Amino acid sequence: MASSLRPSERIVIVGAGPAGVSVVETLRLYDRDSEVVMLSSEPYLPYSPPAMVDHFLTGSGSHLWRSPEWPAQMQVDYRPGTIVTAVEPAKESGERGRLVLEGGQELEYDRLVIASGSRLYAPLPGADLPGVANFKSLSAAEALIKRVKSGAANRAVIVGAGFIGMEIALLLTELGVNVQQFEMLGQVMPAMLDEHSARFALQAMLQRGVVVQLETKVQAFIGEMQAEGILLESGEIVRADILIAATGVRPNLDYLAGSGVAQRWGVMVNDHLQTSAPGVYAAGDVIEAPDKLTGEAYVHAIFPNAVEQGRVVGLNLAGFDVRYEGAERMNSLKHLGLPILAAGLKDGDEVLHGRVDGGWRTLYLRHERLVGYQLVGDIRAAGALRSLLNRQQPLGTLKDHLMEYNFGQGSLVWASGI
Ligand SMILES: Cc1cc2nc3c(=O)[nH]c(=O)nc-3n(C[C@H](O)[C@H](O)[C@H](O)COP(=O)(O)OP(=O)(O)OC[C@H]3O[C@@H](n4cnc5c(N)ncnc54)[C@H](O)[C@@H]3O)c2cc1C
Repeated sequence: MASSLRPSERIVIVGAGPAGVSVVETLRLYDRDSEVVMLSSEPYLPYSPPAMVDHFLTGSGSHLWRSPEWPAQMQVDYRPGTIVTAVEPAKESGERGRLVLEGGQELEYDRLVIASGSRLYAPLPGADLPGVANFKSLSAAEALIKRVKSGAANRAVIVGAGFIGMEIALLLTELGVNVQQFEMLGQVMPAMLDEHSARFALQAMLQRGVVVQLETKVQAFIGEMQAEGILLESGEIVRADILIAATGVRPNLDYLAGSGVAQRWGVMVNDHLQTSAPGVYAAGDVIEAPDKLTGEAYVHAIFPNAVEQGRVVGLNLAGFDVRYEGAERMNSLKHLGLPILAAGLKDGDEVLHGRVDGGWRTLYLRHERLVGYQLVGDIRAAGALRSLLNRQQPLGTLKDHLMEYNFGQGSLVWASGI
């Protein structure tokens, strides 16, 4: 890496999520001179979405992971409640690009970072009816929790049992709401968990009082002026005080229409996280990033990837020449009362699984390399397994020890350089 700082310029970052914050904090390690403007469509200080459930459970405020002094410390012109509606990249080198903001004002930039994250994706008729809630942003979550805490609602229906749907179900149950959750596939968290881990997760959900109906397809949200219930494929109508869509996420890209920034489902980037437009980088849930294991580019939408991508963009903005190594697949369930952590792929040419110290461990191998793991109950081996997953070297004799209860903590592992 060789730093070659440019003369002072204006860098604009669209988005104040984990990706945007990571860009700023990395850039400022090397460059205190550039003018940095950060725009967020929401009216808050930067917040961490994974901490929202904790905050609504305990009132801890832990989701506000950066203090009110952060913008001044980072020398950032922080503009909450500012929505970008269009981007016009520079046409010639030496020219500035332009952003159009809601209300019609314009903002010029020398270099731009697209870190606008993702929002709810609910391809169901009626999903846009007033009264269909979601938990994808702090604004949406606050509106939902306000209704719950007003006491006006004690019965909720959640469509989708993916990661975010599970988190909301547990939160609302904890807040005293009766929750009924519908999932069209045959297991919870189908994108991350294998069938076996999913059974443990389902069991824990049921014990916590969440009613989960698998293999139940929801056709639509129904209601005239306001959502009142859901229509199941069977023809049955289920009514509730609170209706929540947790059917997936999609990148926030609307404002990029006509900008020339190449995109498919997400913004397309090269190995330095540059977009097709000159001087425009992108990071976080908004991009299609290559998977570290398979090379396949898609939207990964998890916190550690957003932070790492932000770091790479920050370094490249600061004049270093840094390649992005690829995104990891990983997720964990924090509020189940039973720790569950899944990473990598959930199939292989060899599968090791079994009870480990009261928990359950499943390891997926391909060509003698670890390509995925699922840990239920006891997640202490996670660090060492992650290291093996990232290294992608043949396991050799280490394979015989992978299922040992203290794998990842014993001297053997450290001697092998994990
Ligand atoms: C409830 C919940 C729990 C989660 N838990 C976990 C977890 O446990 N582990 C994990 O790894 N991941 C988790 N995630 C996912 C993780 O939060 C995201 O991957 C991460 O927030 C992505 O960061 P980001 O900066 O790319 O986007 P976001 O966090 O979505 O931030 C996007 C920013 O862009 C702004 N923006 C959008 N459009 C515009 C516009 N037009 N103009 C101006 N600003 C705009 C928004 O206001 C926001 O500031 C969770 C997500 C949710 C919702």
